[in-house]
Amino acid sequence: MQIKSARFVISNTDYRKCPSPTLPEYAFIGRSNVGKSSLINMLTHQTKLAKTSAKPGKTQLINHFKINDNWYLVDLPGYGWASTGKEKRYQFTKMIEEYLTNRSNLRCVFVLVDIRHPMQANDSDFMLWLGERQIPFCLIFTKTDKLPKSKITAQIERYRKQMLEFWEAMPRYFYTSSLKKQGRAEVLEFIHQLNQKN
Ligand code: GDP
Repeated sequence: MQIKSARFVISNTDYRKCPSPTLPEYAFIGRSNVGKSSLINMLTHQTKLAKTSAKPGKTQLINHFKINDNWYLVDLPGYGWASTGKEKRYQFTKMIEEYLTNRSNLRCVFVLVDIRHPMQANDSDFMLWLGERQIPFCLIFTKTDKLPKSKITAQIERYRKQMLEFWEAMPRYFYTSSLKKQGRAEVLEFIHQLNQKN
């Protein structure tokens, strides 16, 4: 898929205020610092798209971007913020939960994980939560340029083993590097295929 246009539409905290759900939508989520903004910018061929909505606290908002005028890319808040106070963390989770469970046009959630780390409890909890609600998701391993190729394979294998403790199969996954622009075509092709389905 070629990216012909990518524009910021709206940021908010309430799924009811999101754009009307008439186009297919794909959400990106992960622990803070996983490389989500970089990945969104890499996918859309922009340098600052994910940050153009930057306001203080933008990471705690649901950010909608319209791509090619025919699908939405959604930048969700990073989770697992150690610095987020209990009360705030709760609202934050509730906001994400409400969005994920009520957005009828959501085709897939991309769960981003850093290729260098073993499975983290909050990633695993989050995927189980998605699974229980039958919300489709894929895994995106980020920052693959930080590891030699042999280690990438080993890390994915390790991840697969951890996933198989809870799941019957490894979900669909992609490995990406925003720095090297790796994985872009694969992720966009996957979205393109899902966009074709009614
Ligand atoms: P976010 O908090 O998940 O949106 O993460 P950012 O996109 O802001 O990235 C967090 C840090 O990781 C920044 O210092 C980025 O430069 C770095 N980073 C993100 N993606 C990559 C990547 O693919 N390769 C490398 N080497 N660094 C990356």
